[in-house]
Amino acid sequence: MDTYLNLSLEAFSSFKQTSPNDKAAFLEEMANQIDAARDQLIPTASKESNLPQGRITGELGRTLGQIRLFAQLVKEGSWVEATIDHADPNRSPLPKPDIRRMLRPLGPVLVFGASNFPLAFSTAGGDTVSALASGCPVIYKAHPAHPETSRIVSEAIKVAIRKSNLPKGVFQHVEGGIETGQELANHPKIQAIAFTGSFRGGKALFDTAAQRDNPIPVYAEMGSINPIFTFETKLNNNLKELAAAYVGSLTLGVGQFCTNPGLIFIPEKLSQTFGDAVLDNLKEVSAAPMLHEGIGKAYYEMLKSLESADEIQWVQKADAEDIKLGSPAFVKIKGSDWLKDEAFQEEIFGPYGMMVTYRDREELQKLTQVLKGQLTCTVWGEDNELESSRNLIREIEEKCGRILFKGVPTGVEVGFAMQHGGPFPSTTDSRSTSVGVHAIKRFARPVAFQDMPGSLLPAELAEGNPMGIWRTVDGNWQK
Ligand code: NAP
Repeated sequence: MDTYLNLSLEAFSSFKQTSPNDKAAFLEEMANQIDAARDQLIPTASKESNLPQGRITGELGRTLGQIRLFAQLVKEGSWVEATIDHADPNRSPLPKPDIRRMLRPLGPVLVFGASNFPLAFSTAGGDTVSALASGCPVIYKAHPAHPETSRIVSEAIKVAIRKSNLPKGVFQHVEGGIETGQELANHPKIQAIAFTGSFRGGKALFDTAAQRDNPIPVYAEMGSINPIFTFETKLNNNLKELAAAYVGSLTLGVGQFCTNPGLIFIPEKLSQTFGDAVLDNLKEVSAAPMLHEGIGKAYYEMLKSLESADEIQWVQKADAEDIKLGSPAFVKIKGSDWLKDEAFQEEIFGPYGMMVTYRDREELQKLTQVLKGQLTCTVWGEDNELESSRNLIREIEEKCGRILFKGVPTGVEVGFAMQHGGPFPSTTDSRSTSVGVHAIKRFARPVAFQDMPGSLLPAELAEGNPMGIWRTVDGNWQK
């Protein structure tokens, strides 16, 4: 592992000083090189992940868009949060020093990709790109579910590195199993870890990092069950459309999304009609190949473990004939029963949903209070129902990173305002996001320069604002 880390550290010493324009040009070149490999990449990723070529084509577009968005962010430059407090030598009783603060890159970052996004959350996915954008070299631990896809993307990144005259240690691709990942996570020179995948994997890496002699941050996105809260009038007025939207989201990509709505709260008196409407929609959905056999096996084992729970009524059972195919399942349980066992909140990765019925607002509030941390929560209510639920909505907000009032949680926009990260166990650090521009801040730390001679200051903090970025100067936000 020392060989990887030595290369990485060597690259860091110059990469951290690469100008924003050069870094942006490198990211743009990276997007171009990956795009140039699309004819090879799309069929390979589709074959390795069992995801249709149409889906992979969309994911490639998202991946390239994400890289170009970070190039734009880096070129603009204000992300470093430059803040300047000028000196006041005449202040009494003590003179005030000149203090200038900005975000600086952390150092080598270890990234683990996910099986369910072979491009957008893998080799050149959001974690890798946000780390590179911040000025950190990346060591990427390839996911064994799509090795060839990972190699193609890695080669494209390496070409971009060469063409940009950057040191080769800026990005390294490592293949191996859990032991390799753990060894890297334990290496004292790794400064941060980013991960997307299972709770077990993310928590294991978090524990490893916390037990090191020099503990480091771990940004693990481990998924959630993304509850939808429905209010009576809204549901009654739009029952068919909402049931269809729910099933569409639940079964999208064979349910293999971290924002899959695996839980829906329904007023008791509408539960029969809603359940029937869900069933009508589910009948139209065929079983489809899951990402890999391990995921299929885990899906059916988890469903089987529910069969002994007497509280659960099966609205639709999955067809477990072929475990490579994900067949949808939907169950119903009373709120009072759901409260009895935390296990009902466990994510079952695949096209599985649970309808929890509630009697009244008081019961819904109780259910909300025991809910674990989520990436998203969705509220479907008419305006007057939302107005009369302010307190409940505040409680829902405490449970998640993103709260939606329209549509479904699947389909995460990549942009400036997105938050993809919620309270534990959905992620290990709810203050961070793994999607959108704020992801870059996970790999940077603030440094304050006190009374530093102007000639030594980073350009972002120099007098006269030569980079033309947004800065806070003596408490005022200005350019
Ligand atoms: P995973 O098993 O967590 O693996 C993700 C990556 O982390 C792999 O490279 C894996 O190494 C590594 N890893 C796993 N456990 C580790 C450990 N203890 N120490 C070091 N590295 C470790 O995720 P997956 O293969 O993508 O899917 C498996 C399950 O994860 C699914 O059934 C599902 O429940 C969940 N999942 C969640 C999401 C989400 O969006 N939150 C996405 C995908 C999957 P190897 O190379 O050895 O496998």
